Amino acid sequence: MDHESPAKGPHGHFSLRTTEPQSFGHGWISGVFAVALGILGLGAVLCFHYPEWLTMPAIRRHYPLPLVRGLVHVVLVTAFLLGTASVWLRHNKALGLTGLTLVLIAALLGGSRVPIDRDVPPGGLFGLDWFLLNLILFSVVYIPLERLFAKRPEQSVFRKGWRTDLTYFFVSNLLVQVTTLLTLGPAMAFFDWARNPWVESWVNTAPLALQIVAVLLVADFTQYWVHRAFHAVPVLWRFHAIHHSVEAMDWLAGSRLHLVDAIATRSLTYVPIYILGFPQSAIVVYVVVVVVQATFIHANVRWEFRPVRGVIATPCFHHWHHSAERDAIDKNFAVHTPIWDRLFGTYYLPDRWPANYGLSGNDHVPSGWLRQFISPFLWFLGGAEKMASVSDRH
Ligand SMILES: [Zn+2]
Ligand SMILES: [Zn+2]
Repeated sequence: MDHESPAKGPHGHFSLRTTEPQSFGHGWISGVFAVALGILGLGAVLCFHYPEWLTMPAIRRHYPLPLVRGLVHVVLVTAFLLGTASVWLRHNKALGLTGLTLVLIAALLGGSRVPIDRDVPPGGLFGLDWFLLNLILFSVVYIPLERLFAKRPEQSVFRKGWRTDLTYFFVSNLLVQVTTLLTLGPAMAFFDWARNPWVESWVNTAPLALQIVAVLLVADFTQYWVHRAFHAVPVLWRFHAIHHSVEAMDWLAGSRLHLVDAIATRSLTYVPIYILGFPQSAIVVYVVVVVVQATFIHANVRWEFRPVRGVIATPCFHHWHHSAERDAIDKNFAVHTPIWDRLFGTYYLPDRWPANYGLSGNDHVPSGWLRQFISPFLWFLGGAEKMASVSDRH
């Protein structure tokens, strides 16, 4: 047994630097879980208070409220116990006290018993509930998966840039209603004229399985060319370079997409789907496949799916898209199937994985969500200034 007191080092009882061991028994795991559960619990309590602002009408009516309240209660009590354990076990109290503070705020706000005794008007702007549900779902699926079948086992869940990518995950889920509107709106507003009843009825009489394959092929064809344009056109590349600035690949890394990149790609990809008039059932399956596959191809998993890797986009296929090795640059644009890359000469899948990820030497992207959000616009303004000064001289 180790009776030594924990390494105190130069840092005090409350430090943002991790200097003590992170293994079981040192209060780090309990602290991390206390903070994560504290955020979940507090988020849920805020949803109880402001359902008209923070929850999505489409999913709100499906909540079994007594069950949700029970779960929130269990989450807050667990966060409290884990926070206490962490404070007890760890010299640095930052994690434990943060977890306990979150629980305290949630409790002061009424905890799991906040009454919802009014009719909630529809039309919430933010999807905090959507974010919390997705955060639970994705971490429950992917964190164990990436621990058990990691391509890079040495890579931690809290790898470089995780805070930035979690912010992307938070913002994109919180704004899901706005982005969905911006995805579907342009096609409906500008391409109604292109729909044809004969084509529509022909598409709708096909079996669902065929519709799903067709919608995936059509969507990926458009996505392929939009993605390729984002690489080829300098102004667009400034937005897309953000996605390529990830240096550690995992399920969360795929979230790092500039809003302009995400909205432009999704809205353009939806145009042919809308024109061809695919039924809602096929579109719903397509959306689920996009979410699952776009996350999975970034994941830190070692599976190579060799028998099908020529027709289905795999993690290795997309990991090469994130490599700055010379032969891999501007390759593997598809999300669903490498067929389009093979057809248009951009397929690259050697019998190994990339050694590292990120941008090549000439490109620079700042760190942090806000700086990354602003940087393409600043570049654009800088470029415009340069162009103005050039034209002044003539
Ligand atoms: Zn790209
Ligand atoms: Zn990617």
